[in-house]
Amino acid sequence: MKMLKFYVKERKLFHKEFYDITLTKHETLKITKKICRHFKFRQPALVFKYNTDRGLAKLNSGVINLPKSPNLGILLHELAHIYNYEKLENFHHNKKLMKTLNKFVNYCRKKNYWVKPGKITQCPKCEQISPNPNANYCIFCGSKLGFKGE
Ligand SMILES: [Zn+2]
Ligand SMILES: [Zn+2]
Repeated sequence: MKMLKFYVKERKLFHKEFYDITLTKHETLKITKKICRHFKFRQPALVFKYNTDRGLAKLNSGVINLPKSPNLGILLHELAHIYNYEKLENFHHNKKLMKTLNKFVNYCRKKNYWVKPGKITQCPKCEQISPNPNANYCIFCGSKLGFKGE
């Protein structure tokens, strides 16, 4: 599988992870720890350096370069490289990588991305914080405030 073809396919299969879930540095580290512990491979060091949507796994040194605010898809893609290199001595953009990425995505979905259930206090539409943490509707624009992980 060509690299570009791989990128197109993963973004189509895991649209939510690549486009809808942006992580803070803290969340990125937390998810990395969970994945490495569960799938039993060496936890890479994370470097947040890019302003654009890209990642790079330095396989020998066990370092992952990420965007300053990475999406979940990029993180899991680079972790899949580290995993395949360690477990299968394989680092290509091929079916084995897609299989590993698929496992990681399913694990995150099953764990609901480690989102604790609770009321959303920041309006998804106007982004104002609700002064009442239990409010069902945004007092600024009237949008519905659901629950995290819904
Ligand atoms: Zn790659
Ligand atoms: Zn609002």
